[in-house]
Amino acid sequence: MKCKLCGEVAQIELRNHNISLCKGHFLEFIEKRVTKTIEKYSLFNIIDKILVAVSGGKDSLALLHILKKMGFNVTGFYINLGIPVYSDASQEKCMIFSKKYDVPIYVFDLKSFFGIGVFEISKKIRRNSCSVCGIIKRYVMNRFGLEEGYTVLATGHNLDDEASFALGSVLNFDIQRLDKDRIILPSKDKALKKVKPLSFLTEKEVAGYTILNGIDYIYDECPYSKGATSMVYKRALNLIEERSPGTKLRFFKKIIENKELFKKSQENPLEEENQFCINCGYLTYREKCNFCLIAEKLLCDNKVRCNFFDNIFQL
Ligand code: SF4
Ligand code: ZN
Ligand code: ZN
Repeated sequence: MKCKLCGEVAQIELRNHNISLCKGHFLEFIEKRVTKTIEKYSLFNIIDKILVAVSGGKDSLALLHILKKMGFNVTGFYINLGIPVYSDASQEKCMIFSKKYDVPIYVFDLKSFFGIGVFEISKKIRRNSCSVCGIIKRYVMNRFGLEEGYTVLATGHNLDDEASFALGSVLNFDIQRLDKDRIILPSKDKALKKVKPLSFLTEKEVAGYTILNGIDYIYDECPYSKGATSMVYKRALNLIEERSPGTKLRFFKKIIENKELFKKSQENPLEEENQFCINCGYLTYREKCNFCLIAEKLLCDNKVRCNFFDNIFQL
């Protein structure tokens, strides 16, 4: 198998693009695709202060690596969820990355804030771990970003994540969820702009980029991801992709090109009313935001207002 561009031995075959590439041309191909996404959707520019959500996994570290290499002003942010073994191992990968590539990474430690990890919180408040995790991650990153002067929050969601989300929405006929732009969510009062520059790269392409660059990342998935429906949708899409390469990319592109078709008749109250939490002042659609409601059950409101930054440190 030879590289289509230079004839050297190919390192990777991209059936969805009908090409095989050597290491150098593959890395260049990935970086060009990310640049194209950043430019086409005006995600950010060189004067932006970008906060990158990192988990220690391949996608987020690849994103941090690409943006740093392109000369953007980037800082990583990691949330230690207090999951035995997994959380400390993934924080360790972030620390290795931070030192090797000279990129600052900040950490919010859930256990030092709440006294317990995400699993114990979910038991106490009777919600599943992933829903608690989502509330905490969204809140903490948004608040840290805004209060520290960042202008964009970037996440490492890849094409497999986006296509499986779209498939799940279609299968459940929850198509209103597809009416928004999935790649950029503009900023609004008390909400940082959110972007996903890897949306058009498959998980395999991102993994290839991370491995060929020698980036050390955590291979294990979060233990709570096992059995998640999104994993079933990803497997189903991979089966289709195997038979018909390029399906994932075509499906996701069609979804975002046609998002107007999915407009709902009834608007989301969060978008309509833009209410602010009476405790912390951040966006909510009730009197108090979900983060403050969790904190209220486990701690006291005062800690969210006054001691929030005590639990954030730089690696
Ligand atoms: Fe959070 Fe783990 Fe669930 Fe992902 S799988 S949302 S990291 S608890
Ligand atoms: Zn080549
Ligand atoms: Zn609040």
